[in-house]
Amino acid sequence: TTIGEALRDAAHRWGTGLALVSRHQGLRYTWQELDEEVDRIATGLLRRGVRKGERVGIWAPNCAEWTVIQFATARIGAILVNINPAYRLSEVEYALNKVGCSMLVTAARFKSSDYIAMLRELGGERLPTLSHVVSLGEERFEGFEPWSDLRAEPDADLLVQAASAIDRNDAINIQFTSGTTGFPKGATLTHRNILNNGYFAGRTIHLSPRDRICIPVPLYHCFGMVLGNLAALTSGAAMVYPDEAFEPGKVLAAVAEEGCTALYGVPTMFIAVLNHSGFGTFDVSSLRTGIMAGATCPVSLMREVMGQLNMREVTIGYGMTETSPLTTQTATDDPVEERVASVGRVHPHAEARIIGLDGQTLPIGEQGEYCSRGYAVMRGYWEDPERTAEAIDAEGWMHSGDLAVMDANGYVRITGRIKDMIIRGGENIYPREIEEFLLTHPLILDVQVFGVEDEKYGEEVCAWIIARPDAELTTQCVLDHCKGRIAHFKVPRYVRVVERFEMTVTGKAQKFAMRKIMEDELK
Ligand code: ATP
Ligand code: MG
Repeated sequence: TTIGEALRDAAHRWGTGLALVSRHQGLRYTWQELDEEVDRIATGLLRRGVRKGERVGIWAPNCAEWTVIQFATARIGAILVNINPAYRLSEVEYALNKVGCSMLVTAARFKSSDYIAMLRELGGERLPTLSHVVSLGEERFEGFEPWSDLRAEPDADLLVQAASAIDRNDAINIQFTSGTTGFPKGATLTHRNILNNGYFAGRTIHLSPRDRICIPVPLYHCFGMVLGNLAALTSGAAMVYPDEAFEPGKVLAAVAEEGCTALYGVPTMFIAVLNHSGFGTFDVSSLRTGIMAGATCPVSLMREVMGQLNMREVTIGYGMTETSPLTTQTATDDPVEERVASVGRVHPHAEARIIGLDGQTLPIGEQGEYCSRGYAVMRGYWEDPERTAEAIDAEGWMHSGDLAVMDANGYVRITGRIKDMIIRGGENIYPREIEEFLLTHPLILDVQVFGVEDEKYGEEVCAWIIARPDAELTTQCVLDHCKGRIAHFKVPRYVRVVERFEMTVTGKAQKFAMRKIMEDELK
């Protein structure tokens, strides 16, 4: 099945059922309405000469049009290119040119960025492939076509003709990775990759047309567009967008007012929701399940989510943009211990192996690099055979760069990123272990541990800590807590209490950026 066909099926099966709610826009669509709207935009794209394989960029925060363009490009076989809404001038120039976008759909502005002004500044010369820009919203801008003009009366002949040329193994999407460890890479994904992954992720949490998924994660990332939108598309659950970007109060309001049954987020989002000042005033009893993924999910946080948020059937997913994304997920009937401390077992139709430095598969229980293979592995990085060959080996294994351990029952634990491992005086230190330990301190809300350069030891351990609201947390308290409880070389040499971490828009802490700040200060 292709994504276009899946939407047709959804319209037939769940017709007047709720498909999409965009709360900040005040928009609601049934599956039938969504299918029709997608036909209008798909027709508009075809009339403007957009053909199969052509790249269409979307540079906007979460909104209904994001999803409409996702499905409309899929329906005509164009390749959607997700552009990070936080990108500025040089980054958007790089991304659009890297993949040769001929069309771009963009919001007028988002947060402090004025997209229209940025595009005008870049002009035609610096964006040679871009010939058409569509702007979202009510305002009209010279040189930009408004979204409302792109909507056309559906042309069945044109649409059928376009659909007949599409194969499920066609590239449909270029997604940039989060940029947690450096420069984002553009993963090329097919219908088969992402539609199936969305389906299996939704099946694992038993989604059905009775469910409403609260999606505060960015649509530009696989978490939103695959685990959110495509899980909904294949299960009949509704997509609920609480706001254009993550805001804990809006998440709680969306859950309470729409009766959401599922909530998605990276760990830091759940922390923010649970600690929101108005938390107790919202009714979250409708919640049942959800997915936490994207970064290490602390055990204590999982327990709070199950208890205080009523998400008894919450699951943890592990994966990466390059694998569509999930390759493991906990199941709702796994033992609780595994559901809070592991990332579950390997997804259906996926294979995994954990390898040592020599590339050989390691015995059960030993830590090594997690590799996966199967339908979900990307085609490659867009026009970058070298980096693709570094990531996917000759046998089709995608090397994750993550450290993992698998037990005899197949449960996987992610123990950190290879790049984040701290080597202090020859001793390997895993930040995750220290982070989990520090989180046992009652006044610590969130923590990031990373290495900083050190003349004597090569690297030293540094911890950035966010204290619980109103807590008086000093560096000394933290050090006292460590003393005698963890090995001396794991005790952070530098502790800093901060208001926030350096983050990607996907909500992941960028250790390399925090490391740089510390190293510059320590110089
Ligand atoms: P970049 O590759 O650009 O540095 P990124 O790896 O964060 O950024 P994504 O593809 O969004 O980009 O994220 C995938 C990574 O997120 C995984 O390789 C892993 O390190 C981390 N991750 C995802 N889910 C989990 C999880 N449940 N537990 C621990 N880590 C996770
Ligand atoms: Mg990565």
